[in-house]
Amino acid sequence: MNEKLRRLNERVQAARRETESRGETFYPGPSRVHLAAFPPRERWDDWVELDSRAWPRRRERRYVLVPTTCFNCESACGLLAYVDRETLQVRKFEGNPEHPGSRGRNCAKGPATLNQVTDPDRVLYPLKRAAGRGEGRWERVSWDEALDDIAGRIRRAIREGRQNEVMYHVGRPGEDGFTERVLAAWGVDGHNSHTNICSSGGRAGYQYWMGLDRPSPDHANADLILLISAHLESGHYFNPHAQRVVEARQRGAKLVVFDVRLSNTATHADHWISPQPGSEAAILLAIARDLVETDRYDRAFVERWWNWREYLARERPELEPTFASFERAFLELYEDFTFEFAAAESGVPEGTLRTIADLVAQGGTRLSTHNWRSAAAGNLGGWQVSRCLFLLNALMGAVATRGGVYPNAWNKFVPRPIYLPPHPPKWNELTWPAEYPLAMNELSFLLPHFLDEGRGRLEVYFTRVYNPVWTNPDGFRWIEMLTDEARVGLHVALTPSWSETAFFADYVLPMGHGSERHDLHSYETHDAQWVGFRQPVLRTARERLGEAVEDTRQANPGEVWEENEFWIELSWRIDPDGSLGIRKYFESQHRPAARLGVDEYYGWMFANSVPGLPETAAAEGLTPLEWMRRYGAFEVRRGVGPLHEEEVPADELMDVRVDAFGRVYSRAPRPASPNVVPLPTPEPDAEGRRPVGVMVDGRVRRGFPTPSGRLEFYSRTLGEWGWPEYAVPTYIRSHVHPANLAEGQVVLVPTFRLPVQIHTRSANAKWLDEIAHTNPLWINPLDAGRWGGIRTGELVRVETEIGHFVLKAWVTEGIRPGVVACSHHMGRWKPFGESGTGQRQLMATVDLYHAGTRWKMKRRQGSTPYESSDPDTSRIWWSDVGVHQNLTFGVHPDPISGMHCWHQAVRVRRAEPGDAAGDISAETERSREVYRRWLEMTRSAFKVSPDGNRRPYWLLRPLKPGQDAFRLPPEAKRK
Ligand code: SF4
Repeated sequence: MNEKLRRLNERVQAARRETESRGETFYPGPSRVHLAAFPPRERWDDWVELDSRAWPRRRERRYVLVPTTCFNCESACGLLAYVDRETLQVRKFEGNPEHPGSRGRNCAKGPATLNQVTDPDRVLYPLKRAAGRGEGRWERVSWDEALDDIAGRIRRAIREGRQNEVMYHVGRPGEDGFTERVLAAWGVDGHNSHTNICSSGGRAGYQYWMGLDRPSPDHANADLILLISAHLESGHYFNPHAQRVVEARQRGAKLVVFDVRLSNTATHADHWISPQPGSEAAILLAIARDLVETDRYDRAFVERWWNWREYLARERPELEPTFASFERAFLELYEDFTFEFAAAESGVPEGTLRTIADLVAQGGTRLSTHNWRSAAAGNLGGWQVSRCLFLLNALMGAVATRGGVYPNAWNKFVPRPIYLPPHPPKWNELTWPAEYPLAMNELSFLLPHFLDEGRGRLEVYFTRVYNPVWTNPDGFRWIEMLTDEARVGLHVALTPSWSETAFFADYVLPMGHGSERHDLHSYETHDAQWVGFRQPVLRTARERLGEAVEDTRQANPGEVWEENEFWIELSWRIDPDGSLGIRKYFESQHRPAARLGVDEYYGWMFANSVPGLPETAAAEGLTPLEWMRRYGAFEVRRGVGPLHEEEVPADELMDVRVDAFGRVYSRAPRPASPNVVPLPTPEPDAEGRRPVGVMVDGRVRRGFPTPSGRLEFYSRTLGEWGWPEYAVPTYIRSHVHPANLAEGQVVLVPTFRLPVQIHTRSANAKWLDEIAHTNPLWINPLDAGRWGGIRTGELVRVETEIGHFVLKAWVTEGIRPGVVACSHHMGRWKPFGESGTGQRQLMATVDLYHAGTRWKMKRRQGSTPYESSDPDTSRIWWSDVGVHQNLTFGVHPDPISGMHCWHQAVRVRRAEPGDAAGDISAETERSREVYRRWLEMTRSAFKVSPDGNRRPYWLLRPLKPGQDAFRLPPEAKRK
């Protein structure tokens, strides 16, 4: 008996004695564990609990507990499925205590995975449209029929050199690179993501500082936590982060929250700052200037790790190249960023800003900060918000320190897979157009405009767990695109549930929820490295009970599949005889001419690429795959520390060259890295030497993966690629800055999440829908008064640049005057006439009217009770499902980061007679004008590229093509 179990039993015995001393009968709990937080893992094969429905009888139920990973947001928290041994059904999901990121805790959306699995409206079988696209008639088809049709079209496109007509457009990836490698194996630069409507703004600010595009704040050990986000309720990695923020607060750490709304997060803050949207960078620069001016920053760190020499050489060559000169130059650069100026821009009192500066100074190296979406996703130039936020960490030396912020890759572990196909040879301008050479991700939300302009067409377009008609701005343009078969030859929606986009597909193919699929992932939740394993729990439970399962469809409901097996099968059908060179990446290494199976794929990785896992598994008599199937996550390393300080070993230094700023280049080959997929490294020098480190105090240290090897206060990349004015952290006035608003306009903040909903994925979870099913407009009482005394519950009309929407008002002091806000999680709909399809718990039935480029949507019916296999659907008591505001937004691509700048300049007024909640009107001709206006802000690679490339080679890019594909074609040849 191990120690943990022994202690548990002792507690049970103590409780027994105590109960019996009172003359009462003791019931020790069905698994003989009393008051344990989690079932001890030794008992996961046969866990016994009382059946709550049998109460007051004590009916015991026996379970196999199988770990998996939640798929509802990007945090990838661990879940534990309670699979009933008798019925082989999942009874509930709870937290997996073995998961290092979430540590057994979940938000409401984790356990609600059960609702998604049992949702009576989910897609269970492959469907093919049986009428015109979007007309709402479907017929059931076999997987074979769908696969052959799709594979045949892709095969022809590849054979005919039309690789760029194959596109995979992903919403929530939930995995680390599997599908990117599938596309690489096909030789297709067809990866498209949702990132430019999500986090490109946040990413760009970090990328230009440290060469990596995400922060990893060590909240648990911080003394000051500064969030430009709502991280205690939603946001990136929010549950793993929130629990660590709470721990820090329990220790006495201070919390500062910037949010225009009084969010649930702001209610927990010591200081809630509600600035004018878009003014955040001005505040941060004023704080930075103050820290330097008052000498309350980590001078030694800055001198050691910033590329200040490069800044002086390029921007202030007249100054002596000393650190004292740089300090002076810094203060001159930011002399306008006084607290007075920041207060005027933000509307936050000067004294409050000074207090925040004092707290930052006190935080020292224990300053953890985070900005991901929020201001970075809302504003033109929003990417400078995260750049200015990280400036505070960089000034305080709070980088890779206990309680500071790490570069994400140091707190993440991506194991090397069994095959690494080469980079695709062609560049796809539909996703990476020349106008946006510095975009962090694909210009995905401009796709309808690009196709409209004749920049290309699509033969096969996959949308995968992605709903652009609903999620993206300008959704009516997406409907126009998807219903045009000349532009989109075949649209395949890979989705667990109905969506506004799936209605306009040719095939709707049922994919699994988080408990019905395999994926591997690792995220930077804290100062550690871990890998988490998502698995189809019924398949694993059956296997644990002795059954052989070859194909996940055998265990999933209906004919729901998982993507790993789907992509492997599709790839075989694209290249059945191997002549295209594709099939070899999907073959078993053990069984010649057989398909690669998921057991072999993951088994290989766990055995060969995750250090420590084979030994840990062997100690329990398990293979690495068996261990991961049993526990679901493995911690590779804890307390990673300052990797940039590590010295580069002598065998990596050969024929070394050190440039004027200390970057060290070497001819030594890159050391074989048996474990991880290598990090991107900056470009080699002119003689082909590889950058391996940076000279600091006479030693070659690893440094950061930036061109200079240091933290880049000055970005040579931005300077050389056409944006010298933004090469240092600076403040860009937003498109919704008060100076840019017309008379009567206010700012609409349309981006915030609700804690219990998550985009398209959670609407089919009845528990969540009951808690949150509407998105009223937050209006400050001062504005409500100005607009004629609008009261809570009254209908208002919000006019955007391309249309309007109608919704209920919520008058609250929890929002800044002059700003209104509406959550983007609501307003789901299905067109009237869809025959028996579409989710009914949170989707309205609507009429769509369309005349030329004018579109209207009118709600016929909200949610109503209905009979189904789930008796709860007849108890639905809500009818309001909110409004779909995104349909009324034009596209706002930031010319540098590519991020859609979500905030809107709007007018708000009382609804007109005849207006009804959920009404929407938009004109796509006006959205074209908006697109053209924002496109004019760009600086094309054809004009600014300093090296003839389309994009700086060192910048991160999902599914990077081969280096030759980076070369710009002669402009004349461009299609
Ligand atoms: S939805 Fe909640 S439980 Fe699921 S991964 Fe996100 S934070 Fe974790």
